[in-house]
Amino acid sequence: MAHRSDRTDIVPQNTGRKSNIDKVEISKFDSRFADWWDNRGGFRGLHDINPARLEYINNRANITGKRVLDIGCGGGILSEAMAALGADVTGIDMGKVPLAAAQNHLQLSGVTVDYRHTTAEAMAASRPESFDVVTCMEMLEHVPNPASVVRACRSLVKPDGDVFFATLNRTLKSFVLAIIAAEYILGIVHRGTHQYRKFIRPSELEIWARNAGLALQDLTGLHYNPIRRRCWLGGNVHVNYLMHFKKL
Ligand code: SAH
Repeated sequence: MAHRSDRTDIVPQNTGRKSNIDKVEISKFDSRFADWWDNRGGFRGLHDINPARLEYINNRANITGKRVLDIGCGGGILSEAMAALGADVTGIDMGKVPLAAAQNHLQLSGVTVDYRHTTAEAMAASRPESFDVVTCMEMLEHVPNPASVVRACRSLVKPDGDVFFATLNRTLKSFVLAIIAAEYILGIVHRGTHQYRKFIRPSELEIWARNAGLALQDLTGLHYNPIRRRCWLGGNVHVNYLMHFKKL
């Protein structure tokens, strides 16, 4: 399969005037209230990978007692887990249904999260340098201009703060596993959730982050066996990966 060498050619530069929201992408997540906390539903993969990514974030940033912003929080799977560890969590998303599912689940879990319907860019304008830790998981591949979100993360985090991203690499292996297998063969992810051309190479994310003023601390692969429902970190970054940055 031919790979584009650089995604910047298909990503319009954000002028600051156009919103960085793709309504079609939002709609993919916006009608699945009951699914978000259904351990066997269309977001089961997010539940299965959650303990591993939570441990990674907490090992590197020790989130207890810290102010954390979770961008593109969806139904709050990660937001809640971070709050349960004692972080003061704000979760933002542009989907109203995921936010409603997230808010609703707080009653069951008894933890506290401040959920808001807004974008990373709007938050960056209103609350710069307000968070010790910013997380943005499995969201960058759904926005028109991911570099703009990366810049907003840099604005939102305090000096020396931590920023974490997780997304899907643009490789043949990720096309086969994350789209063909997950969406069409195993049916564990809703069909049409991912578009191959929107996947992001670690090198691209690193350049966007470096240009924004974020220094790479670590890159690690996130591996998932959907049959055994097991997740582990390390090894190659061909499919899903996590990146940790610090604000310079
Ligand atoms: N981060 C969560 C959910 C990932 S699903 C987790 O990993 O568990 C992707 C989420 O990103 C969806 O809830 C979708 O509504 C949200 N999203 C997509 N584009 C967005 C944007 N421009 N601003 C805010 N949220 C967005």
